[in-house]
Amino acid sequence: MTITSLRRQLLAGEKTPAAILGKLAGEISSRDTGKTGAYLSYDLESALSEAANADLSLPLGGIPIAIKDNINVLGQPCTCGSKFLEKFISPYDATVVRKLRAAGAIPFGRMNQDEFAMGSSTENSALMVTRNPRDPSRVPGGSSGGSAAAVADLTAIASLGSDTGGSIRQPASHCGVVGLKPSYGRVSRYGLVAFASSLDQIGPLAQTVEDAALILQAISGADPQDSTSLDAPVPDFLSGLNDGVKGLKLGIPKEYFGEGIDPGVRRNVEAAIQSLASQGAEIVEISLPHTEHAVAAYYVIAPAEASSNLSRFDGIRYGHRAGNASDILDLYQKSREQGFGPEVKRRIILGTYVLSSGYYDAYYTKAQQARALIRRDFENAFQQVDAILSPVAPTPARKIGGISDDPLQEYLSDIFTIAANLAGIPGISIPCGTVDFDGGKNLPVGLQILGPHLGEAQLLRVAKAAEIS
Ligand code: GLN
Repeated sequence: MTITSLRRQLLAGEKTPAAILGKLAGEISSRDTGKTGAYLSYDLESALSEAANADLSLPLGGIPIAIKDNINVLGQPCTCGSKFLEKFISPYDATVVRKLRAAGAIPFGRMNQDEFAMGSSTENSALMVTRNPRDPSRVPGGSSGGSAAAVADLTAIASLGSDTGGSIRQPASHCGVVGLKPSYGRVSRYGLVAFASSLDQIGPLAQTVEDAALILQAISGADPQDSTSLDAPVPDFLSGLNDGVKGLKLGIPKEYFGEGIDPGVRRNVEAAIQSLASQGAEIVEISLPHTEHAVAAYYVIAPAEASSNLSRFDGIRYGHRAGNASDILDLYQKSREQGFGPEVKRRIILGTYVLSSGYYDAYYTKAQQARALIRRDFENAFQQVDAILSPVAPTPARKIGGISDDPLQEYLSDIFTIAANLAGIPGISIPCGTVDFDGGKNLPVGLQILGPHLGEAQLLRVAKAAEIS
């Protein structure tokens, strides 16, 4: 079910795009609906009409790709996992969707997520529960939980997610699939509903590193509609994929292997490092001394930006509008009170607080200073090494409902993924064996590989070597 193998079958005439869609629809009704719950919705009819015109000569010709529900697809719902946008229908295609179509792919399916991408378990979706296909009593991770669960459950071939602080890499890790967060600026965010604009990136989730590279190839590049997208050359991400790691220097940040990591996760990640060493990579211990401030800085900056971005949901311009409001202020307040869930409200209040006069310097400016130090840590590290290896998350997936009343505990679990967003560098999560954890058996573990800004080609090459090892 990889893109590469399906492409071969499509070109050989052994399959048709319509048959692939029909098969997926069957798998969704037997395994997803009422069970895994990765799909918020899907529109088979419109996908089939696109399939009828699919150009198989294109790189993703005839391949259905599932889309996280915060990325606009013309004529499809775009709920962001929120009651606010439950009935919203997209009036346009996001640039990534336009580019997928231009590469021959067929957007198919709207994937569940934490509301407005705020969370690490998909439990913050206001619309539906998504289960981890490897153990249905557990969360799939988040916030792109639906995008990861469907790929793991083989109800999607590949998908797009968004990653602001780990939301592609962490669910990929928990579900045992590949998830890639590109460099800041590599992929246009036009048409992605903004959470934290200085951190958000769109990227692929897939069965294999090669499939992730194929999708990245299709969606990368400058976009006049997103001024933060970079006018940098897009290399061929596939040509060097099998070049191996011989002669490359791989950094192990000592701060990433401290207390709090599950021993099984540590064991698996260390085994992957050993395997890369045996393929000829040089393993170097490095230091990222400001990592300890990453979670605190992120949970100031991301809510600050979210509080500003989400001000557009006012009951007038988009989505939910409260009835019987007495005046305009009452309309704003009632619409937002009814439309947003508790985690979104918490972030808006937190973000408004850290931006307010008297607190701005103490929190927001301080967080930006920490961010600069974290970015410099990586710049120094990449003077010495070609890529950095670490776990994706301190533990495998936890039980559904296991979230404590203490959101800080949940925020701390983002420790390994957040720094890459603060620094704007690319990161990938690839499957790294399984472990038993907290009563669960054979739960997937993810290896994270980080690369320098715009260094995706080399990152994918390391990932490919780690994947086959
Ligand atoms: N878990 C992080 C948060 O809750 C990251 C979310 C994301 O990457 N969208 O903010």
